[in-house]
Amino acid sequence: MTMATGMKLSAPGRRSFRFDAGTLCLELLLTGGEGDLAQWERLHTPGDLAAWIPLSRAGLGDLVHVSPGDLVTALRLRSAVQRLAETAASGSRAFSAADLATLNDAAAAPPPVPVIGPALERAWASPVTGTQFLSAVARDAVEVFGGPAVDRVRMCGGERCRLLFLDTSRPGARRWCSMERCGNRHKLRTRRDRNPAD
Ligand SMILES: [Zn+2]
Repeated sequence: MTMATGMKLSAPGRRSFRFDAGTLCLELLLTGGEGDLAQWERLHTPGDLAAWIPLSRAGLGDLVHVSPGDLVTALRLRSAVQRLAETAASGSRAFSAADLATLNDAAAAPPPVPVIGPALERAWASPVTGTQFLSAVARDAVEVFGGPAVDRVRMCGGERCRLLFLDTSRPGARRWCSMERCGNRHKLRTRRDRNPAD
C-alpha cells in the first residue's frame, strides 16, 4: 500500500506546497492532532475521516464507511503514531508501551481485502470500512516502528516546522518536509548569513 505521492498542504495566508510523508501512518498525522496541532484538526466527524481517506496514499477510492467508533480509534491511533514518530525522529527508541498497544489493537482488525476485477485491475472489495482502513494504517506503523525503517523517521529540519516523514530516498539524507518550503528557506538563510550585505 505505497504509492509514491504527496499531499498538497495549505494554511490560510501561506503558499501551499506538496509534502510527501513517505508512508501511510505518517500521512495520517496531517489530519491534525493534540495540543498546538489541534489548530490543524480536520477530523471532527466520521464523515470528515471518510472524506479524507480517498486523499491518502492508501488508494482505497471513495467508498469508505466510517462509524463514530472508527473516528475515536483514528484519533487515538493518530496520537500514538505522533508520539512514536517524534520519539523515533529524536533518535530515541523509548516508545511508550501504551502507544505500541494502540498500534497492535488497531492492526489486529482485518485490513482491506484486495480483489482482481474482470479487466484484471487490482482494487479493494467495497465498501471498505473505517476499521479496515485504520488496520492498514496500524499495520504500516508496525512495519515502520518495528523494523529498520524506524531509523528513517525524521522531523523536518526547518525552524518551527514539525512535519514528520519517512525518508525513502536512497542515500537517506532527506532533511526537509519540502524543498519548496523549508529547504528553500534554509538555502536563503545560509546565503544571507554568508553575504550579510545582501
Ligand atoms: Zn518543514
